[in-house]
Amino acid sequence: MLPIYVFAFTASAVLADGPFYGDPPDATHPWAIHDMNRPQPPLVKPGTFSSQEQPGQAPSDAIILFDGTPATLAKWESDKNPPVPTQWVVKDGTLQCVPGSGFIRSKEEFGDCQLHVEWAAPTKVEGDGQGRGNSGIFLMGETEIQVLDNYNNPTYPDGAAGALYGVNPPHANALRTSGQWQIYDIIFRRPIWKDGKLLDSGRYTVMLNGVVIQDATPLEGGGGHKARSHDRSMPDKGPLKLQDHGNPVRYRNIWYRLLPARAVDGGDMGAMPPEAASAKKQQIAAGIREAAAKLQGLAKLRRQMESLCYAPDAATLAASQAGVTAWIATLKQTPAGDMNAKKSEIMQMHEAVDYMTHFKFFPAEFTARAQIDSIVEANGWKK
Ligand code: MG
Repeated sequence: MLPIYVFAFTASAVLADGPFYGDPPDATHPWAIHDMNRPQPPLVKPGTFSSQEQPGQAPSDAIILFDGTPATLAKWESDKNPPVPTQWVVKDGTLQCVPGSGFIRSKEEFGDCQLHVEWAAPTKVEGDGQGRGNSGIFLMGETEIQVLDNYNNPTYPDGAAGALYGVNPPHANALRTSGQWQIYDIIFRRPIWKDGKLLDSGRYTVMLNGVVIQDATPLEGGGGHKARSHDRSMPDKGPLKLQDHGNPVRYRNIWYRLLPARAVDGGDMGAMPPEAASAKKQQIAAGIREAAAKLQGLAKLRRQMESLCYAPDAATLAASQAGVTAWIATLKQTPAGDMNAKKSEIMQMHEAVDYMTHFKFFPAEFTARAQIDSIVEANGWKK
């Protein structure tokens, strides 16, 4: 005996858009292509760009590390243990290195991030090579993106401004003249190791004054002075360190945004390990079934079917097949003259059942697709 289904008659009101649209989830991708179940990206109010005269505004979700105020100076300490207040000074809204006082570090610790830093070498040009306007930005305190005034100042390329120091030179020298503000936008991904195996070397993408100078450059251990570095594990997070290299380099407008976790790091960015994808699909299917339980008629039926695209479930499959069969039975009893009013409902169910059959979420012996096909054809709706 077939279960009794209450079908709503206003198809457009009950049938949502989109669930049966792009390719379904697979072993390593928990979402379908163009999946409306996927969470919407969070809203971020963008900031403004900096000029030489004026630092720009950070995006709304940025964590500010230095904005020119003494309050943000308190977010830094001298890179000593036990920590002491930094001797670097705030001058005209900039954070200035006091030569000989040592590195400083942020009190906050973080790993994968988008980091914005602006720096300026002294206007009065002094020294050459590595001795002119040298400082450095150490992500997690471990790996340096070089800060150097190598405008008209040749040096070893893997130590130029924007180099992953000791690993990779910048793709271009896009520096402004000495003393002007230079703008770094850095995307940092730390290395990922699991069970002693390297899954991702970690990488830097860097823009200098809007010019890409590192393009997902592998860390290869993060670099260093004179010695070749090799892939190594690093902590998950650490302080941002700024280098005292003996030059009074100034900084302003320092902020970062955290980045979503990569699939190899337990997130869902990119292809996931099959076990993680499977767990995620179970979770999505459970959410859809919970939503379906609050619905009636075809809306419920479509959501039940949809859930099967993420995770099989014998009871849901049986209920879906029974629901489709019962719905076809009501169609067969519908007078020919009333069929046009049901066209939209029928076409949407046709789409759903077609999808479920094509991607084998319905077993081959379930013949609803052929039955709906013939109804569609008989009414002259076949495209
Ligand atoms: Mg340096």
